[in-house]
Amino acid sequence: MQEQIEHLVKLQAVETERGRLIQQTRTLPVLIAEAQSALDAMQKRSAAASDALNREDSLRTKLDREVEQHRQKAARFKSQQDSVTTTAQAAAIEHELSFASSEIERLENEEFASLERTEAQEAALALSRKQVEELAGTLDKTREYVAGEQKQIAEQQAVLVAEREQLRKQIDPDLLSRFDRIAAQRGSGIARADNQQCMGCRMGVRPQVWNQLREGQLLNCDSCGRLLYWDPAMAPAAKPAQPDPDVADTGRAIRKPRQAGA
Ligand SMILES: [Zn+2]
Repeated sequence: MQEQIEHLVKLQAVETERGRLIQQTRTLPVLIAEAQSALDAMQKRSAAASDALNREDSLRTKLDREVEQHRQKAARFKSQQDSVTTTAQAAAIEHELSFASSEIERLENEEFASLERTEAQEAALALSRKQVEELAGTLDKTREYVAGEQKQIAEQQAVLVAEREQLRKQIDPDLLSRFDRIAAQRGSGIARADNQQCMGCRMGVRPQVWNQLREGQLLNCDSCGRLLYWDPAMAPAAKPAQPDPDVADTGRAIRKPRQAGA
């Protein structure tokens, strides 16, 4: 029975490790998705900065055209100034000229403000393009990392599958099907009993069961149904050796001198 227990315990360890690797595999694509969405967001920002620049450009082209129209109008009015006959006409032309010149000034101020905005937009565009490049590099590296991890996991899984098959061959078929049934229900098929407790569900074990377990029997936990075993190597019998003096002695170190003095 002891050998069968050992095989089952090893089989459980293999299954647990396989499950852990499957979980790990699931988290890997998330890394790529995160890197991709960071890149997408930055590309959008870069495109928006580029659009803003283009809009400023066409705004200035339009302002240039308007300035030119006012200049041409002003030139026409100036040429008429020589041929005016009444003061009313002269005043009207004067009014048009002053309107044109104030419009030109307003439009040129707008152009100047647009140029200032362009300067800021160009800096933003340059920065976002640089960040797009960096994030694209990050995405490549993430893909590489994930591919490497997936390859490594696949190799580990292959080893575990071989180990699993080897172990299953050595376990009694009835016992194995009991293990499989419980594992399908509980996630694990076998649990260690420690300190009169099932380590699978943390429920207490009846004294009689505990005694039988200590005799090397394989029983089912009354609470969770998992196969229960007792491992003498993990039992508190190892305690008298006091393997960890740093931790174990700190409490006693205070008492020791007192005992020596008494
Ligand atoms: Zn249990």
